[in-house]
Amino acid sequence: VMEHYLDNAATTRVIEPALKKAVYMMTDCYANPSAQHESGRLAAYELKTARERVLRALGFLSGQLIFTSGGTEAINAAILGISRKYGRKNKKIVSTQIEHAATLEALKTLEKDGYEIILIKPDRAGSVDAGEIAAQSKDACLVTVMAVNNETGARLPVKEIKRALTAMKSPALLHTDAVQAFLKTEEPLSALGADLISVSGHKIGAMKGAGALYAAEGIFIPPLFYGGGQEEGARPGTEALPAAASMGEACDFRSMRLNEDLKNLSKLNSYARASLIGKVPGVIINSPQEASPHIINFSLPGAKSEVLLRVLSGRGVYVSAGSACSRGRRSHVLTAMKLDPYLIDSAIRISFCPENTEDDIDALCGGLNDGAILFKR
Ligand code: PLP
Repeated sequence: VMEHYLDNAATTRVIEPALKKAVYMMTDCYANPSAQHESGRLAAYELKTARERVLRALGFLSGQLIFTSGGTEAINAAILGISRKYGRKNKKIVSTQIEHAATLEALKTLEKDGYEIILIKPDRAGSVDAGEIAAQSKDACLVTVMAVNNETGARLPVKEIKRALTAMKSPALLHTDAVQAFLKTEEPLSALGADLISVSGHKIGAMKGAGALYAAEGIFIPPLFYGGGQEEGARPGTEALPAAASMGEACDFRSMRLNEDLKNLSKLNSYARASLIGKVPGVIINSPQEASPHIINFSLPGAKSEVLLRVLSGRGVYVSAGSACSRGRRSHVLTAMKLDPYLIDSAIRISFCPENTEDDIDALCGGLNDGAILFKR
């Protein structure tokens, strides 16, 4: 069976240059970047290069960038670290109901520690009101709002939130989980104005095991754990250099092709929307029109997501029911958007990489129509 991988928001295939770089780092340039010998110096140079590449892909010329094991760790480092360092006076954090579990679970832990956690409700389109968030932030130490939602692709108004926080002189720092926005927006993420940004390597064609937390100059992030002095003490432990270097490589590769990539993603998005509506009777698209082009969430009322997923999987079409992390639980994102239960129970998320083709979408539509027969529609 030909494979049609439409689950790129969950993770991506490693792109060729990122693979080559990782292999090079494991076979030739494998020394410890802290080592004093020549081989160690070369490894340290690769680490520095990777850091500069990720910073540049974010749109920055300077600022702090800590390599982590992935998006989850970057988000935890930001939320737990910032609240520990800056939250003594203002034990309050403002976020949204539609964040990734990495954020929501970190916030739950802080709630147990006595923090007041405010989770703003999304509207029907899966976005939030910047003013509503800012209004809650007068006495908060942190506002954390994702840039693009991983289930619907909805864009959240991070830039407007920053403007509102500045206008009202809020003491809160702004963190954004930009895992699904990274290298998928025309404007670089630096334009959001966030104080802290979390990104992940395996969503942009790098190998698994690397992510990064950006922090503006002057922000101190206490470590999540303790050890040697790597990453300026912010993230001790021998660096996962193959993963970090492959992330740097993927950043360069995708940055160079960004315009072309965005054009391809938009084309795929339009073709998929038109095909779903035109060829699969009954489909309802849950993602807003202005969502990030790489994600489309839709429902096939009367069907069940898990069954559709299985039928599609049998035809080599790989999609997700809501999000990969939800594992059969009803989506907290679609629930917060107040979608009808019959839409939530039949929701499917497809997500593209720029290398997907119209063929993949045709296979999806064929599979959905096969699946729909099971529900006697
Ligand atoms: N945040 C969002 C929006 C995501 O989609 C993901 C992906 O699972 C994560 C955070 C977690 O990133 P990682 O898998 O790199 O830990």
